[in-house]
Amino acid sequence: MCGIVGVGGLQDCADTLLDSLKRLEYRGYDSSGIVTQTADGFAMNRSVGKLSALSATMRETPLAGRSGLGHTRWATHGGVSERNAHPHVAGDKMAIVHNGIIENHVALRDELRAAGHEFASETDSEVLAHLFLVAFDQGMSAQEAGATVLSQIEGTFALAAMHVDHPDLRIVARNAPPLAVG
Ligand code: GLU
Repeated sequence: MCGIVGVGGLQDCADTLLDSLKRLEYRGYDSSGIVTQTADGFAMNRSVGKLSALSATMRETPLAGRSGLGHTRWATHGGVSERNAHPHVAGDKMAIVHNGIIENHVALRDELRAAGHEFASETDSEVLAHLFLVAFDQGMSAQEAGATVLSQIEGTFALAAMHVDHPDLRIVARNAPPLAVG
């Protein structure tokens, strides 16, 4: 069981994301990561192991930005590695974090690959970033994109997504795992 967190606000959010992940540590995890949106697009740090490893990476490479996503992962699909750690980004435009399992990820991945998408991880979750990217690239609103992606996926999830063109907007959804919005 992992944890996901999303933040949008008036100040740099990296510390808030890290603090929030620490509050979710009790759920157990094997790796972690944070993405923020900077003036130049997404910036991301991911680490294998305890959150102290991610904290050290954040000190070495601080992430600016007032909005972002964080994740602690408990691997179900794909080994424990930095490239399988969340967040996952597609097309430099769409970032996601996901808790749970996308049961139909193989079929979705095959369809997306046939359409020219390249995958950077072995996770089931990465299809979410690509599905959202397709929806936004087709000109859908965030609501339409969310509804479309949810109609395509099967499984259990709490997820959060953000698009580079909508820095103040987080798309969140759940089916089974809990998700709190505040
Ligand atoms: N199934 C996803 C993965 O293996 C998410 C696992 C989790 O809930 O942390 O990356």
